[in-house]
Amino acid sequence: MEKAVYMDQSGKKYTKSQFFRYFEAKVMRTIRKYSMLEKGDKLVIAMSGGKDSVTIAHIINNIVSKRGEQLEALLIDEGIPGYRNTTIVDAKKFCKDEGIKLTIVSSKKEFKFGLTDALKKLDMNPCNICGTMRRYLLNKHSRKLKATKVVTGHNLDDEAQTILMNQYKGNAQLSAKLGPVTGITEHKKFIRRIKPLYFMTEKEVTVYTTLKGWKIKYTECPNARDSFRSTIRDQINSLENKYQGIKNGIINSFLEILPELKNSLKPKSKIVNCKKCDEPSARLICSMCELLEKYSKK
Ligand code: SF4
Repeated sequence: MEKAVYMDQSGKKYTKSQFFRYFEAKVMRTIRKYSMLEKGDKLVIAMSGGKDSVTIAHIINNIVSKRGEQLEALLIDEGIPGYRNTTIVDAKKFCKDEGIKLTIVSSKKEFKFGLTDALKKLDMNPCNICGTMRRYLLNKHSRKLKATKVVTGHNLDDEAQTILMNQYKGNAQLSAKLGPVTGITEHKKFIRRIKPLYFMTEKEVTVYTTLKGWKIKYTECPNARDSFRSTIRDQINSLENKYQGIKNGIINSFLEILPELKNSLKPKSKIVNCKKCDEPSARLICSMCELLEKYSKK
């Protein structure tokens, strides 16, 4: 008889095959509930080589092989030595094994500098620079790959952390862009992002990758330790240990108010094309071009 390998919060035990069935069925329910996939979609996985992106790449690859949508993967190399070069090796191996075409775009090639170079010149939070570069390159290059949707590996823990981070910073506008399908405004140059792992906890994703036997190195970005996200993650985890269900509570209450949030916080001005690079932007000059300008002036 197959032995139990996982026990959920309610004490229910799962064998390996039961856990795979539970996990994949829950992801499938999320995809259906939020109509994430449509006929004729060209999906691009935002690949990092970490556990979340390989998990969702594997599941989506299985789904599209039966349904016929196209799938590729895109990895953004922000230029973080000792971290990204390790995850690139894992991503290449994984995509080769799964038969998924992988494109790697490097910020050094695109902008002539990576995150480490930027930090030597700019007195800015590394995650803000990294996020600006990654969002910009992901959108631009997934469009070049003719993507209709970008699939990200965000899980329930990631989303709960982001909701609280925005709350603490008083940035409801950013929260309005969250949810299983992101964005508030439509623009033909913006590629919508979908998060099929939205209701899966980080622990469940870790168990899934371990049971699959994937040799993923759990490399952490050197900037993660001191980040605001890591403080919030520790807080939520310690609360969850004490009061079970906190993470689900954050997500479920957020989803109840999200439609109202999206409705009331729609940007007043239209999305325009950045005057410098022609990429979509909420302002005349996009955040990436502002960053490039700061960098070139230093
Ligand atoms: Fe980028 Fe910050 Fe994440 Fe490192 S921790 S990959 S700098 S967002």
